[in-house]
Amino acid sequence: MIGERLKRARAAAGLSMLALGQHAGVSANMIKKYEHDENMPGSSVLIKLSKALGVRTEYFFRPVQVELGEVEYRKRSSMPAGILKRVHADVLDQAERWHELANLWPNFPVADFVLPDGLPERIDTLDEIEAIADGVRSSWQLGQNPIPDLVDELEARGILVIMTDVDEHTKFDGLQAQIAGLPVIVVSTNWPGDRQRFTLAHELGHLLLQGRLAATLDEEQACNRFAGAFLLPGEPMRLQLGETRHRLEPKELYLLKMEYGLSMKACLFRAKDLGIISPAVHRGMVIQFSKNRWNKVEPGRPYPPETTLTFQQLVYRALGESIIGESKAAELIGMPLMQFHQERKLEQLDAVADQ
Ligand SMILES: [Zn+2]
Repeated sequence: MIGERLKRARAAAGLSMLALGQHAGVSANMIKKYEHDENMPGSSVLIKLSKALGVRTEYFFRPVQVELGEVEYRKRSSMPAGILKRVHADVLDQAERWHELANLWPNFPVADFVLPDGLPERIDTLDEIEAIADGVRSSWQLGQNPIPDLVDELEARGILVIMTDVDEHTKFDGLQAQIAGLPVIVVSTNWPGDRQRFTLAHELGHLLLQGRLAATLDEEQACNRFAGAFLLPGEPMRLQLGETRHRLEPKELYLLKMEYGLSMKACLFRAKDLGIISPAVHRGMVIQFSKNRWNKVEPGRPYPPETTLTFQQLVYRALGESIIGESKAAELIGMPLMQFHQERKLEQLDAVADQ
C-alpha cells in the first residue's frame, strides 16, 4: 500500500490533490482514495504520479518507514505551516534512505551517538556552559582551532545531518529530532555557512543540555551560549581580542567570523558574554549594526555554506564492496540509472575537465 508515502511526496512537492490528479489524469477524489489506501493506482498512473512528484516509482514501495519523533523547532513564529510540511516530508524521505542504506550493511561503519563523558547532572548558570563546550571539544579531540567542517564532525559522531533545499525563502529555522532512535539535525542548504553552523551547534546544545538545566535557565539561551562557545572557544577569543576592550572595530568581528564560521553578530554577543566588552559597549555596537542593516545581511563575503558527502560516500563504498548493486545505489542517491552509471564512471568529471 502506498497511501502514506504518496501523501508525504505530495506534501514535499507542495501540490494539492486536485493539482496532482490533473498531472496523473485522475480526479482529486481518486488521489484521496490512494492516500487512504482505498484504491491502488495502476502502473501507468503510478509513473505519472512519480513524474509529477519528482520521485522514482520505487519510492512508493520502499520497505523502511520511519517516523519523526520528539521534534524541537527553534522558536520562530514566521515559519509557515506549509513550509514545515514540505520540510518534514523531505526529512523523512532522506532519513528513510539513510536507514535503508544502514540496514543493508552487515556492520554499518558509522558509530551510534554517545554523550561525551563528564557532562554535569545539573547546570545552574549560563557561564558553566563554557566549560561544557570546552569539554566536548576536548573529548572529540578538536583542540581550540576553528572546526572546518561541522557537518562531517557531527556525522562522524553518529548525528545524522539532513540538509534540505525545499525552503527557498529561508523561513525554515532548523530543527532537531529523533528518527528511529537516531539524533537528527536539519538545516537548510539555502543559508550562508555561519547560519548553518550556528544552527547545527545550537541543536547539538539541545542534545547535550536537555534535562540538565536549572529551572531558572532558558533552554534556547543556553543552547545559543553553547553554540557560540563551541564554535569559538573563550581562550582563542581572548587571545585575539584581549581580556577587556572599550571599543571593537567591526572588521575584527568580520575576521573572527571568517576564521571560525561564527556570525559577526554572534561574535559580538560572545565578546559581551565573556566580559571582553561591557553591556553598554555591546548595546552601542548593536545599534551600529542595525543602522548599517547588518542585522539582515552581514557585510563582506558570506561564510561559505557546508555540504555533506557522507551519504554518497557510504553508497559508493557499499557499491565498491558489492553490498548493493548499481540500481539500488541509483535509487538511494535518487538518480536515474543511466545518469548514475555515467557518474559512477566519472564521465561528468572528465567532461568538466575538458572544458
Ligand atoms: Zn532551540
